[in-house]
Amino acid sequence: MGTTDPPTQNAGGRYSITEECDGCGLCVSYSAYSFAASAYAARYFVIRQPIEGSEEEALLRDAMEQCPLSCIRDDGPAT
Ligand code: SF4
Repeated sequence: MGTTDPPTQNAGGRYSITEECDGCGLCVSYSAYSFAASAYAARYFVIRQPIEGSEEEALLRDAMEQCPLSCIRDDGPAT
């Protein structure tokens, strides 16, 4: 799989998108760093975990608040 292929799963880590995602695409309008569409934009995945406290994390959290299906998940910081 090349690096430009659509993602097929979430990048491992704190944040993820659940299978309830309907592919509306709102999240990627907040952060193309953190989110990308699967093939045919059927759903989205977290493709990179942001550095804690970074601008990317703030944008991801904005998207989490706005996601119409509340399907961006935060498992909390690693312990
Ligand atoms: S905003 Fe929510 S429902 Fe819409 S594509 Fe992103 S994760 Fe999926």
